[in-house]
Amino acid sequence: MSLIKYKQKRNFEETTEPASGKPLAGKHIFVVQRHHASRLHYDFRLEINGVLKSWAVPKGPSMSYADKRLAMEVEDHPYDYKDFEGTIPAGNYGAGTVYIWDKGTFELLHPEGNSFDKEALRELNTGDLKIVLKGKKLKGEFALVKMKGREDNAWLLIKHKDKYAVGTYNSEDYTPDRVKAQGLTEKAIAKATAKKKL
Ligand code: MN
Repeated sequence: MSLIKYKQKRNFEETTEPASGKPLAGKHIFVVQRHHASRLHYDFRLEINGVLKSWAVPKGPSMSYADKRLAMEVEDHPYDYKDFEGTIPAGNYGAGTVYIWDKGTFELLHPEGNSFDKEALRELNTGDLKIVLKGKKLKGEFALVKMKGREDNAWLLIKHKDKYAVGTYNSEDYTPDRVKAQGLTEKAIAKATAKKKL
């Protein structure tokens, strides 16, 4: 795991996204960032082995046991990205609005005898990571399962049927209107700026 890809994609003279960050020992954090880029998606990140393992979830995470959300694995992000919120300027990678939609800690559903990172990496490598989220919106058991016979980076984010699970869920219903509006405004500005440059 390294942040080479992350750094290659970004110009830190222009974006205020962080370049690094060291996790605190003990608790492992997760964060979900609603990212209104050229396409709206939610970035789901888990701190494992010192970096944020990251997946882009087009439809957003779900608390419904009936949903299987496509989650495209993307490059590892630095730990400090957990606090990033705001605007990635037009013309930069991921240009758009980032909003911290949920944040908390997580545990492994089956800690086994291994150290946390060792067990988490083992499960990631087998394409079946089972976790327990302790967020404000996302709670309880989830699985990230790698899709077979698809592109290498395609996973499914699945809510287990536990006491927190619900029948139907739309993450957009839990996003403040001002955040939705801001995303649209900034997208319009970015479009206008791009047109001017032509
Ligand atoms: Mn993103």
